[in-house]
Parts: sequence; structure tokens; C-alpha cells
Amino acid sequence: MTGPAGSDGPSIRTEAVIDLDAVRSNVAVLLQAARRSNPTAALMAVVKADGYGHGAVPIARVARQAGAVALGLATPQEAVHLVAAGLDATADRPVVAWLWVPDEDIRPAVAGGVQLVVSSVAQLAAVRAVAFLAPDGRADIHLKIDTGLGRGGATAAEFDHLVAAAIDADSQVQVVGVMSHLACADEPGDKSVPQQIAAFRAACAHLQRVGVSVRWRHLANTPGTLEWPAAVFDLVRCGIGLYGVTPFDQPHPLAAELRPAMTLRARVALTKRVAAGSGVSYGLTYRTEGPATLALVPIGYADGIPRAAGIGAQIWLRGKRRTIAGRIAMDQFVVDCGDDEVLVGDEVLVFGPGDSGEPTAVDWAAQCSTIGYEIVTRIGPRVPRRYVGSSAAGPDHEGSR
Ligand SMILES: *Cc1c(COP(=O)(O)O)cnc(C)c1O
Repeated sequence: MTGPAGSDGPSIRTEAVIDLDAVRSNVAVLLQAARRSNPTAALMAVVKADGYGHGAVPIARVARQAGAVALGLATPQEAVHLVAAGLDATADRPVVAWLWVPDEDIRPAVAGGVQLVVSSVAQLAAVRAVAFLAPDGRADIHLKIDTGLGRGGATAAEFDHLVAAAIDADSQVQVVGVMSHLACADEPGDKSVPQQIAAFRAACAHLQRVGVSVRWRHLANTPGTLEWPAAVFDLVRCGIGLYGVTPFDQPHPLAAELRPAMTLRARVALTKRVAAGSGVSYGLTYRTEGPATLALVPIGYADGIPRAAGIGAQIWLRGKRRTIAGRIAMDQFVVDCGDDEVLVGDEVLVFGPGDSGEPTAVDWAAQCSTIGYEIVTRIGPRVPRRYVGSSAAGPDHEGSR
């Protein structure tokens, strides 16, 4: 059987099919949203955590082809991995990493032209010490201010001091960006967002006052880009939107234009006919109502299927949604197919875009009180990724040179 993900061979047991055309189209949606308020806004494709489970390198390549100028990562190591794969890290095409500790080895990142985000004077000192390794002997950095999230970034009180220290270090570092991160952008109408925008504007004004002109001012993530035009500055940092998963828990007109990129599929490994009242899986928390055909699906919580989804989690098999019977195990789960005919090798769609009725990552998230981000990001390394779409085999991949 062939699902919406395209053709497949009989040897597939599980796979995550990644639709690069969906990513391409999502880049266009995000850029268009950003450019409602700033016609020259640029897009940073956030590909941390292995591209939210989709594969950082192929996503970075297709996002760049589709018009994302910058790439964003959490750790310097993630950034180095992209540069090593051939993605440009230059002033015009920056690769930025924002989460690191001052005693981390940042030399490969600085030497590779990665732009590190600096939240403290200690981090500034760490960059200064290795700045000579940078491609032109001077490290490009972004300063981060905490405008209200209470996570990374200098507080408003520390920020002016950090700026002064960066100016002092002028011969070793160049401030090319300033950033902050929103706490509640996914909540339309939230009052903290305008406050964060105002605090960010104040920080930008301070930089200008002291003569630091930065090329990249950036605040908005995906929900900021889609919902808060005033949060769009020179650059927007979009992750989840690239992958076509909505960041909102209510329907949103722009998020509705995004297309989920990942389809998680598996094949039935075994079927069996059992009597009424048969117990299924650990704890025997499930018993068949009548005589039933059980289908064994070879993917489990080690692969990222949340065990917490518990009773009621659904997959798509043989033309309908069916509920998982009993507990999800490490490597497998079971589906009660009643009297329906189900064969070994049948395709199971765990989640996908929803085109043929299969659940989406957001449906799974609702089922286990989490967010779509966590569902796609958790899909583990045992599940092979397969890339489809016209972008998958193009000759002009950045990085394939
Ligand atoms: C992960 C992250 C993003 C991307 O957020 P999305 O909601 O996935 O678009 C942007 N900025 C920072 C600082 C992040 O950590």
C-alpha cells in the first residue's frame, strides 16, 4: 500500500518521510507573514535539535534555497555540524548559536565563522579569548537581552554594561546582532508581548545611542512572526513553522497555510486472531471486547512515540483511524482491528499532514497534553528519515558541492 508519503519498498519497517516541498512552501508563508510589516525582513531557519527531528542538514539546505538567509541553532556544536556539512557561515548568510556555557569549547564554532550569541560579560570574555581564530580575526557576535522571558539574555540592568564591554572589545568582536525571545507569542492578545517589544526597542535605541549599528535585530519566533507584526525586526527566527506544525492551540488563519513536513509511518509486523477478553500489552490494561484481529506495529517509546499518550491514542490503518490497544511499549504497540481484515505489511500512519484522515502531530500532542514541537522533536534516531519532494534530489544543494 502506498500512503500520502509516496512510494516505498517492502523492506521499510518504520520511517519518517520528510516532504521538502512542504518546508519550501512553509518558508514562503513565513517570509510573506514577516514582510507584511517589514518588506525587507529576512528569515532565520531554526534547525536546532536536528531540525526539530527532521534532519538539520537537509532542512537547512532547502530552507536556504527557498530564501532563508540565516540559520539558527541552540548549541555551537550543532552549528559546527552544519558548517562541516557545507552550509555557508558568512556575514551575509549567518549561522547563529545561542546556548552555551562559558567553559564550552567554542573554538571550532568561532573558527568556522559561526556567530555566537552573548548574554553575559563572562561569555563575552570567552569569545574574546578565541576571537583570533575567526575567519577575519574578529568574531561576529549577537548580544542578547532578556526582555521578560526570564531565560537567556542579560537583564535590562546588565545590558548597558554588556554593551559597554563589547565596545571595549571592539578589536576582537564585532556586534552584528541584538536579540531577545518572546514568552507568550503563541497567545493572541497577551499583554506581555507588547511590553517585550517595547523593551526590545529600548535596547535597540540604546545601541544606536552609543554608536553600535547592528545589522540583525531579531525578536520574533514562529508565533511572533504569524501573530505579532510589531515583533518583526530585521530577522525572524522561525523553527516550528518551517516544519508545518502550528505553535497555536487554537485555529489560526496564517498557521493554517503551513503544511506538516513529517509523516511517521510503519508497517504491520504481525497479525493474530484472538478470543474475546484477551489481554493486550504490559499490565493487561486492555482486553478485547469480542474475538479480534490484533496488529503489531513495530515502533514504540524508544522511537519517540509518547507512552504518556495512553488510552485513546490513534493511528491510521486500512482506511480508518484506530485506537492503540493497551500500553505503548519501548519498541512496539498493538492495534485492535476487530473483525477488519488487516495483513502483515500493511501501512500504518502514526501521524502526517492529515490528508487521508491520519492523525497529525498536533493530534498526538493534544492526546498527551504537550505541544506539537515535542512530538516531532522526539522522533528518535532508530527511525530512518527519507526525503521526498522536488527539492529532495535537486543538483544545486548548498552543501553538496
Ligand atoms: C527555538 C527557538 C526559536 C524558534 O521558535 P519557534 O517557535 O519554533 O519558531 C527562536 N528563537 C529562540 C531563541 C529559540 O530558542
